[in-house]
Amino acid sequence: MMHNESITEQLHALKIGKYSSKELTENYLYRIKKLKDLNCYISVLEESALRAATDADQARAKGKAGLLSGIPIAHKDIFCTKNVSTTAGSKMLHNYIAPFDATVVAKIAAAGAVTIGKTNMDEFAMGSSNETSYFGPVKNPWDTSRVPGGSSGGSAAAVAAGLCSAATGTDTGGSIRQPAAHCGITGLKPTYGRISRWGMIAFASSLDQAGPMTRTAEDAALMLALMAGNDPKDSTCIGDDVPTYLEYLNSSLDGSCIGICEDFFTDGLEAKSEQVIQEAIKIFEHLGAKIKSIKLPHIRYSVPAYYVIAPAEASTNLSRYDGVRFGHRCKDPENLNDLFKRSRSEGFGNEVKRRIMVGAFTLSAGYYDAYYRQAQQIRRLIKNDFQQAFKEVDFLIGPTAPQTAFQLGEKTDSQIEMYLQDIYTIAGNLAGLPAMSIPVGFSSKLPVGLQLIGNYLQEGTILSAAHQYQKRTDWHKCVPVLAINKVQP
Ligand code: GLN
Repeated sequence: MMHNESITEQLHALKIGKYSSKELTENYLYRIKKLKDLNCYISVLEESALRAATDADQARAKGKAGLLSGIPIAHKDIFCTKNVSTTAGSKMLHNYIAPFDATVVAKIAAAGAVTIGKTNMDEFAMGSSNETSYFGPVKNPWDTSRVPGGSSGGSAAAVAAGLCSAATGTDTGGSIRQPAAHCGITGLKPTYGRISRWGMIAFASSLDQAGPMTRTAEDAALMLALMAGNDPKDSTCIGDDVPTYLEYLNSSLDGSCIGICEDFFTDGLEAKSEQVIQEAIKIFEHLGAKIKSIKLPHIRYSVPAYYVIAPAEASTNLSRYDGVRFGHRCKDPENLNDLFKRSRSEGFGNEVKRRIMVGAFTLSAGYYDAYYRQAQQIRRLIKNDFQQAFKEVDFLIGPTAPQTAFQLGEKTDSQIEMYLQDIYTIAGNLAGLPAMSIPVGFSSKLPVGLQLIGNYLQEGTILSAAHQYQKRTDWHKCVPVLAINKVQP
């Protein structure tokens, strides 16, 4: 069925005229309506999507197809989209209409893609379950009583449920990889700076990175090539030429060396998930890779360091939402202080407020050295650990998340448990390394994700390893059984 095909397959079908972009887009729009209860989308751009699809069909007929011509893509609602609501999952921005396109959005549209809608997410990308969204939680299509992961939960669930060909996400501590794992799809967080952050609403600027969420590693390579590259509007953007990632995909794993770190297999890892990961590791061995045990001595401090650094940056970034410069404004303020206070109290949800308070505290004069400076020092040590490891191995593998998708509401009262969901992903953000998650099996009918972490700018290495694995296995082709599949026109 067309909605379960990869972008690569869909591009082929469009090329040979098996179906048109208009038919493909209509099919997704139909499914989005029927599966509304999953709550994957904050806005669905029905009219403009159908117009873009018709334009793409015409361009193709004239021999002017772009690299993604006619492919319906959804954007996480953290990316500004011109004249379209951009909420970051928050009441604060519930009526914000962006006056411009984020660089990522503009690049994908320039390749001919159809922007089908904006996906649901944790408020300001803070969360691991999509439950902090002002627009309500997203449901996991594999089991609707469970979370899809977060913060890019809407994007992950939309890809898994066949509600778009692929989606964009952002990852500050794991928000592309962890929901990708929970929804059984492929998610890539590139090297920090590989993709422009311009027009991407900021959470923690030194950690935030955009990336593709797709069915296959091949699709991720295609999307990354379009999204990456220098942007004069983002000074942290890496200027190097963008490799043609698709060309990397067929490099063999023969003779390569993969690192496994003991700390990835701690007590917190669910037993069945561990078994699934171990089986996946065997497949990499069959593909010709050598496995080597490596040490990352400081990785155990990742979560505490992250929960000092990320809130510190968030408290600074979120100061602009004061009801004057940006964001929700309270009714009938008595004076300026009242305006700030009530606009922020009403506009932000609890998790965001918690982070602002923690961040303001750790940055305060009396505590800066004890918390913020220390966390930055740990960050450097973690970075050094990885640099040491990459002298011995080509990339690392391990679990993406400590467990499969949990029940809605299960962890909303325990911040620590929620924060620990990113125990394996956060180090990649602190060090700024490229990392991805691919589906490698199931534990009690729920998808399990494997994480691959590469050296700086070595997206090609992990993408090709993932592609080799996907050529050998079919986990990435598994789709959830949804009632609608039976009544499909
Ligand atoms: N779950 C982490 C947090 O809540 C990571 C979020 C993210 O990557 N955006 O901060």
